[in-house]
Amino acid sequence: MKDSLRKYVGNIDFIDLKVIDIIGRVRHVILPGDRLTDELFEEGVGFDASNFGYSSIENSDMIMLPDPDTAFEDPFFERKTLSFFCDVLRTEDRKPFEHYPRNVLRATLEKLKSIGAADAMLGPELEFHIFEGMSYRVSENQAYFKVDVAEGFWNSGEFSNANVVERKMGYHRCPPADAMANFRNEAVMIMNSIGIPVKYHHHEVSSAQHEIEFRFQNALNSADSIILARYILQNLASRYNLKVTFMPKPLFEEAGNGMHIHQYLVDGTGKNLFAGDIYCGLGEMALQYTSGILKHSLTGALLAFTNPSTNSYRRLVPGFEAPICAVFAKGNRSAAVRIPGYVKDKHKARIEFRTIDASCNPYYGIAAMLLAGVDGVKQKLDHKELGFGPIETNIYNMNDEYRNKIRFFPSSLEESLRGLKEDNEFLKPGFPDELIRQWILVKEEEARYVNSVPSPAEYQLYFDL
Ligand code: GLU
Ligand code: MG
Ligand code: MG
Repeated sequence: MKDSLRKYVGNIDFIDLKVIDIIGRVRHVILPGDRLTDELFEEGVGFDASNFGYSSIENSDMIMLPDPDTAFEDPFFERKTLSFFCDVLRTEDRKPFEHYPRNVLRATLEKLKSIGAADAMLGPELEFHIFEGMSYRVSENQAYFKVDVAEGFWNSGEFSNANVVERKMGYHRCPPADAMANFRNEAVMIMNSIGIPVKYHHHEVSSAQHEIEFRFQNALNSADSIILARYILQNLASRYNLKVTFMPKPLFEEAGNGMHIHQYLVDGTGKNLFAGDIYCGLGEMALQYTSGILKHSLTGALLAFTNPSTNSYRRLVPGFEAPICAVFAKGNRSAAVRIPGYVKDKHKARIEFRTIDASCNPYYGIAAMLLAGVDGVKQKLDHKELGFGPIETNIYNMNDEYRNKIRFFPSSLEESLRGLKEDNEFLKPGFPDELIRQWILVKEEEARYVNSVPSPAEYQLYFDL
């Protein structure tokens, strides 16, 4: 056992072991505190993974092994509880289970070596909505009859909210309009206390929309932090009878929730490998990496992991600062990759991938994004040849001649999944074939389900025909 954990022996009531399922939800099992022994970190705990979605054929007996580096005192249990993220091993040979999200990301990080990088430094921005008294009843059709078409049905469920500001007028608003500032403060205090480095937080553009930005961490810690931040926000909300959602587009005609990721690659000494003199403080590697991300976004293969819900594509529409096409630009928020223009310090040279949203499994989303970038570097992709920009005009306002030159992202989950079937070679260093097949099965089923349920918009258009 790690020395720093010995102080907990005999001093905790419970151990909480957290495991990530295929869609990025946290599952857990609680052990009595007296099981905090060396043996726990050597043997782990057996469990049945068949319900976690990784694979239908796979032998489902697995072992969860707590990662000692992820220990924290979990504030959401009444009894003193030490919590861990786990790794998952196969029972037969105790080798890492290759489909497990943390293992996919680890395998991906190994691949970075092939381009001379040791890790990626990531700074995610988490956007979310907070609702009061939200209820949704998709299984009972009457929910749709309650949607008020005269009001413009901008809620697809029913909700009553005190934290409402005028439409699209919420950006950096102060209290009392920013009615959840204290809630966010409390969430950030918890995040700080367990080592999640926060940069700042604020009200976002939409009514009831908020954002917490994180400081840079390496890729694995960053993905763990995203999962933990979601866990903290959802649990804190439930204490106050509130609901937090990271759904990409919960409200019609309001801004959606992105999970932009600022990023750069580093070598073994921590040196920023993106710095250079070609464009806005970026060098060749950064630009090839950017082209890789844009190229595999266009095919849909990358978006199938970074934007993997049917709702993701309701966010990727013009007019809400969400990207819609494969270009990069300095400062321009309608571009899929933005180069923050104010970076003077070359250690901070970075790009911001704006397409990704928090309906992704962060480990898979980040791994796919890194592998797309690595592929761009390996193939020495040229952004000019590929027509990726840089473009400084607001893409939403472009004239048609200009617009015809740029290429748009897939507009549905099905389209992205079709792209993933064709374009997946670049993912192989991190994603086993069987996992990609399983992902497509799970996500196609979701899309089929959504397509088969009558939607509020259909009632508006067709009910009174
Ligand atoms: N909410 C916007 C999105 O969907 C982003 C707003 C911003 O630039 O922070 O990506
Ligand atoms: Mg931001
Ligand atoms: Mg934002």
